Amino acid sequence: MSIHVLPPEVAAKIAAGEVVERPASVVKELVENAIDAGARTIRVEAREGGRRLIRVSDDGNGIPPDEVPVAFARHATSKLSCVEDLERITTLGFRGEALASIAAVSRLSLISRPDSHPAGAEIRFEGGEQVSLGPKGAPTGTTVAVENLFYNVPARLKFLKAPATEGGHIHRVVVNYALAYPELRFHLTLDQRVAFQTSGDGNLHSVLVEVMGLETARQMIEISPQAPATSPQPPAPISVSGYVGMPSLHRAQRDRLKFFVNRRWVNDRSLGAAVTQAYHTFLPVGRHPVAVINVTLDPADVDVNVHPTKSEVKFRDQRQVFSVVQKAVRSTVVSAAPVPHVGSSFGHGRAHDSVVSPEEAERWRRLTPGSGRSATQLGFEAQRTLPDDEGTSFQPAADGLPLLRVVGQIAQTYVVAEGPDGLYLVDQHAAHERVLYELMQADRVSAKVASQQLLEPVAVELTPAQAAVLEAEAATLAEIGFDVEPFGGTTFRLRAVPDILLKTDPATALADILAELAEGAVPLSRQSDERLIVTVCKRAAIKAGQTLSMQEMQDLIHKLERCSAPRTCPHGRPTMLHLSAAQLAREFGRM
Ligand code: ADP
Ligand code: MG
Repeated sequence: MSIHVLPPEVAAKIAAGEVVERPASVVKELVENAIDAGARTIRVEAREGGRRLIRVSDDGNGIPPDEVPVAFARHATSKLSCVEDLERITTLGFRGEALASIAAVSRLSLISRPDSHPAGAEIRFEGGEQVSLGPKGAPTGTTVAVENLFYNVPARLKFLKAPATEGGHIHRVVVNYALAYPELRFHLTLDQRVAFQTSGDGNLHSVLVEVMGLETARQMIEISPQAPATSPQPPAPISVSGYVGMPSLHRAQRDRLKFFVNRRWVNDRSLGAAVTQAYHTFLPVGRHPVAVINVTLDPADVDVNVHPTKSEVKFRDQRQVFSVVQKAVRSTVVSAAPVPHVGSSFGHGRAHDSVVSPEEAERWRRLTPGSGRSATQLGFEAQRTLPDDEGTSFQPAADGLPLLRVVGQIAQTYVVAEGPDGLYLVDQHAAHERVLYELMQADRVSAKVASQQLLEPVAVELTPAQAAVLEAEAATLAEIGFDVEPFGGTTFRLRAVPDILLKTDPATALADILAELAEGAVPLSRQSDERLIVTVCKRAAIKAGQTLSMQEMQDLIHKLERCSAPRTCPHGRPTMLHLSAAQLAREFGRM
């Protein structure tokens, strides 16, 4: 075949393929146009996963009747006029391709009327051919109906998934814009059922409630405002806002991590990595946080014209954006000591431990017999307490606990305690894990991990996988108090164990710990020593279902009070629930 220029209709279909990949891409482009047109309310309707019909109506500026046909010309846009404009894009669209592309691969009608015009216009296309144009009475705004998408592109049609799947993609697109634009009202119907809607009250948290449900939304904390980060030259402030999940909230997939750059949803691996890094040690291995993050920066510092669907962006200073996001999320997660308030309304999750006056603390201390130094019955670790700050200050650290008075135990699993601000329900296992973890870390830092020589060395039979972990981790195991030597094949001799494991059967404990690490599948990495310690603490901690004496509970709570991060266990789950005095009063109708 000789070289020739493709006929325009073929070229148009090829170009359309870049923009319109599936029904959800049509929804995305039409919703963007509505937002760019200053709409307050945007309705989206789809039938059969968008294959049969997609209709998007808005109450935005509308298109003057005489400009309606031009809007469908390729590269026709009202949002950009010169190359320099590309440097400072503030609209979602700018390529002038969407309407032309969608019209090329469907049967499309558009009705539009600007407020200033008494009558609107209607235009119809079939497979890119204009089939009608005329005046039409209509409310202010624009409605675009797209029917029989890809009817003339069989190759694309073949690749469409089941209506439910395509509907799911449409749903996600609308959700993303609702998150980016809380001040707009969105309304989505799929096959005539309302699938999603927002109130447009301008509050991102209201949208989170609609998207994730009240329970999940309650566990999300607002990113604390930061001083804008400024790079030396030229000044380029980057700000980060949004909500991040408390560490107790995590998912197997990354799908609940959403990023918006200048209010545009983007798919950016590096931002994902920044957030994951910010949660380091707060989340169990292999789990992903939940977060909705808005990054705002000078449009000149970000290139959105990387991809036809504009879902990828390029930052001028990628490293700086990464670091600003990572810091903002980290400081929010760290400062928002994650004590979930039982049934508390959102926004009270932070700084709820009133700083107690010295008099109050003194009074409280008289009421809490367990809070002084006491004989302990929790095992060997109890003889050594964490640095004791009693007498110097009664004020809890930013993340610290107030002094608590133990009331009792329920379900042989939770310790009920009272503090100056209400009731605390403490998970005995998680709390003890935290105590042991901090103890072990402190000992490690000072290089004096307490280890006990066994009276008789014990032979431990390991599986090859466990033996591999043992060999890989030999140095850390020694550092935290294990003394193990090879005894031929996969048999080893255990001579000493960390103090905290003495109450257990040391050989089984070692095998269990190695088995758990071996199962982790993730190859042991940089943080493997961290995981090892966490696993040892988990094995050594009091279990649920164990009855504790009053003394043991007081002892546990007393040690927890001294931890630097008492509110989560080393896996990131909460160690306690807090029901504040105010909350109690409210629940009982006292206020
Ligand atoms: P782009 O959005 O990149 O400019 P489109 O092909 O999506 O390109 O739209 C072409 C033009 O049509 C837009 O620039 C805008 O002027 C007009 N337009 C499209 N949709 C709407 C709408 N919903 N309301 C008002 N004007 C619209
Ligand atoms: Mg557009």
